Amino acid sequence: MTWRATVLTIFPEMFPGPLGASLAGKALSENKWALDVLDIRDFAKDKHRSVDDTPAGGGAGMVMRADIAASAIDTAREGAAPETPTLYLSPRGKPLTQDRVRELARGPGAILLCGRFEGIDERVIEARNIEEVSIGDYVLSGGELAALVLIDACVRLLPGVAGNEGSLAEESFAEGLLEYPHYTRPRDFEGLSIPEVLLSGDHKAIAKWRREQVETLTKSRRADLWEKFKRR
Ligand code: SAM
Repeated sequence: MTWRATVLTIFPEMFPGPLGASLAGKALSENKWALDVLDIRDFAKDKHRSVDDTPAGGGAGMVMRADIAASAIDTAREGAAPETPTLYLSPRGKPLTQDRVRELARGPGAILLCGRFEGIDERVIEARNIEEVSIGDYVLSGGELAALVLIDACVRLLPGVAGNEGSLAEESFAEGLLEYPHYTRPRDFEGLSIPEVLLSGDHKAIAKWRREQVETLTKSRRADLWEKFKRR
């Protein structure tokens, strides 16, 4: 079965966007994954195709209506494989991790609801049992960029998509740690040289050096990841 992303958005023209280029774009054109984009405005009930309304209780901004978002979700679910999770991209969501990305990539795909305005009426999240996912502790103007990030992270893990699948096993977060530094030609760059061990041809010594780098970098940059790794 082909891994399928179904995106619900009021800006369908933002897709596939950057996912139409490079490895993801090539894989999309080769049907190694599929993308469906539904325009939430198609589910609006008035001639102005409005999807938002003023917030109950007052305050700034507008809120996406539950009934319209629910119609879009229901239509997306009808067209998706039964086990497909529905995710709402949201700064309030659980932070997206490589472990969650791996799980999603192993599944049939994902239905991705992109918020706009102040967000979406809470009741649709509850009524449709939607998982909220954040791509970081900052606020974007809409869920579309977050959806693109999530799809990209999943698609590169699909069989036959990455140019060099061996590199996936060693990259950052593969075992919950950060990756070692990379070097290539030229041998001398502005007075900076490549660490001698990498030029030694001694594969055992190279592997040992890289492992030390992985641990040192993770400890110094991401103490949270290091603590988690030690507890595994
Ligand atoms: N009022 C919301 C709040 O304070 O949490 C922010 C709404 S934001 C302007 C509009 C939409 O962008 C959200 O509904 C969500 O879909 C998306 N969004 C913003 N930041 C995000 C993030 N860090 N991760 C995922 N989606 C995000």
